[in-house]
Amino acid sequence: MQDSGWRGAGESGFNSMMTILAVTTVPAFDDNYLWLVHAPADPRQVLVVDPGDATAVEAALRAQGLVLAGILVTHHHGDHVGGVQTLAGNLPVFGPGNEDIEGITHPVQGGDRVELPALGLSFAVLDVPGHTRGHIAYAGHGAVFCGDTLFSGGCGRLFEGTPAQMYASLGALAALPPETQVYCAHEYTASNLRFALAVEPDNAALVAYAAEVAELRAACRATVPTTVARERAINPFLRTTEPAVRAAAAGFAVEAGLNAANDDIATLAALREWKNRFRG
Ligand SMILES: [Zn+2]
Repeated sequence: MQDSGWRGAGESGFNSMMTILAVTTVPAFDDNYLWLVHAPADPRQVLVVDPGDATAVEAALRAQGLVLAGILVTHHHGDHVGGVQTLAGNLPVFGPGNEDIEGITHPVQGGDRVELPALGLSFAVLDVPGHTRGHIAYAGHGAVFCGDTLFSGGCGRLFEGTPAQMYASLGALAALPPETQVYCAHEYTASNLRFALAVEPDNAALVAYAAEVAELRAACRATVPTTVARERAINPFLRTTEPAVRAAAAGFAVEAGLNAANDDIATLAALREWKNRFRG
């Protein structure tokens, strides 16, 4: 089934009923998820997102009789690009134009589109700097592949960017339609929720989700993908305007001698620093 329903972030006309993107989860390393995106035009053909480990990808392709048709990369970290050279051959490799990554054949940036009509796939590229300087995300078909920018219950560390950049990046992801499936690159949810509960212990949606996640993890099941709607309800890094989140972040900032958490960006900065130090 061909999807022409995606018209970009936040625009009207999005219809989640048009396609449900088929995605296979490939676990790798300790807690990475590499994603195989099945082509609506031919589900045996897949794109791989952030192939940090070529062996894991090759094993998944073999096990399911799939053919790799292209590679999408979100940022330059080794656990996201380590398998690119081995897997690429003559395939198209899309990745951030302003990061130094070996093997990218199609450098892209925010505002560009990845158009693969033969596969029936089309993604909008979003600039989401913060974790790294040139981090991008791919949004389309009711899904977003956001690398290490947004996690369920948390966000990426600010290795190269500023709190203001991360605030804008998370805002762009949160502005996607609420039903958007969010494919984050790590299984960090349980640990993120311990922190989220320290920030916002009285958030009923968060308390309920934490119980759900505990059950999933006890059964060794993935908590990703999540959705934009869920993250807006439970993720403190998307909730910097909430009085309870702001008050908790302000309390931490005072204790830690940081700048007063008196606006959204300072609140996000305080939350990120608090999370860095949090042992829950
Ligand atoms: Zn990373």
